[in-house]
Amino acid sequence: MLIVQKYGGTSVADIERIKAVAERVAKTVEAGNQVVVVVSAMAGETDKLIELAHQVNPSPGEREMDLLLSSGERVTSALTAMAIQALGYKAIALTGRQMGIVTDSVHTKAKIERITGERAFQALKDGYVVVVAGFQGVTEEGEDVTTLGRGGSDLTAVAIAWALNADLCEIYTDVEGVFTTDPNIVPEARKLQRISYEEMLELASSGAKVLQTRSVELAMKYNVPLVVRSSFNDKPGTYVCKEDKEMEKVMVSGVAYDKNQVKITILKVPDRPGIAARLFKQIADANIVVDMIVQNISSDGQSTDISFTVPKTDRERAVEIAQRVSSELGAGGVVVDENIAKVSIVGVGMKTHSGVAAKMFETLAEHGINIMMISTSEIKVSCVINDKYTELAVRALHEAFNLKEG
Ligand code: ADP
Ligand code: ASP
Ligand code: MG
Repeated sequence: MLIVQKYGGTSVADIERIKAVAERVAKTVEAGNQVVVVVSAMAGETDKLIELAHQVNPSPGEREMDLLLSSGERVTSALTAMAIQALGYKAIALTGRQMGIVTDSVHTKAKIERITGERAFQALKDGYVVVVAGFQGVTEEGEDVTTLGRGGSDLTAVAIAWALNADLCEIYTDVEGVFTTDPNIVPEARKLQRISYEEMLELASSGAKVLQTRSVELAMKYNVPLVVRSSFNDKPGTYVCKEDKEMEKVMVSGVAYDKNQVKITILKVPDRPGIAARLFKQIADANIVVDMIVQNISSDGQSTDISFTVPKTDRERAVEIAQRVSSELGAGGVVVDENIAKVSIVGVGMKTHSGVAAKMFETLAEHGINIMMISTSEIKVSCVINDKYTELAVRALHEAFNLKEG
């Protein structure tokens, strides 16, 4: 079999952990497999580099940011290859460029366009373990390093598994799989044996960072067989796969939260066609992804308030655009709320059960938690609340939908 193994930050956090990765890779090779390893930077390293950048410049250039951030994964890819060599196996470390990972030129959140992977193909044929630096690519012209957005090594792994037509993509992390909610917040959370791509996608896009959203999107699109498991033990992990009948029996399979968004409101926007189009076109042109949107008639009945949420990292640019649009339209100005969190419940069973949203609202109400925004999809309900209630809300919903162990 050809197996892609991705090791996250905590799994390569220090020399001991890197040696443990090398051992696991060696075992996988001994079992008769070809292995491509994808590594993240050491735990905390990417944050540290971002912090350094902001110490020299409050708004650092994005091209240089990518050059800086890509270094973390280069360090671990080289060290991991060396550790595998030390065990007597052939290993070669490749950067994103050397792997032929070609992206667009949207720095800090580039999209993969294609993977050539020639060197990797050849190296595998020659009996090497290929160790790829995650999270990075190179622009079409081959001139600039790009990065794939936070958590992007997951995407590197899935994209390589797809490009090389691997039999399995294993995501090794610091938890034993995908749980009914973040086990670091709710210790009673239960590990799922299997989860559908669809549910995993909703959980990831709702903030469950165990898999990066785009990596799940890609896995779902191309049916890449994916398993999430721990690099600290040999327990089986969670399979992410196509939905089946069994899965529909459960109404809700998981609860997720996201504290990485801000809410921006433009007050008293004239109530006429074309306004929302104008605002959100400009935001989209700036490559900012808007999550929730709510529009409400304001008290004077002549105008509306438009609220929307964006990732915290895009706050400055989004506010700038909102302020510009507000003054162009003669609206009432812009207000920003930093103290928000989004809590979501996800489950394919929602398609066939009613009253799920009502139960979520009731549960939040019972705990005195006010809802600021709501959005739903066929298999998800999300509420924006004050962020000081995040943990309380997650625990309460986990309990209300009977997701606990046992
Ligand atoms: P890595 O560095 O290996 O990529 P991440 O920190 O990105 O690891 O993702 C793993 C973390 O995801 C866990 O430590 C856990 O806190 C968090 N997490 C959030 N929601 C879930 C969930 N539903 N199941 C498992 N882990 C989750
Ligand atoms: N090191 C990058 C990050 O921290 C990518 C990753 O770990 O997947 O976001
Ligand atoms: Mg991650």
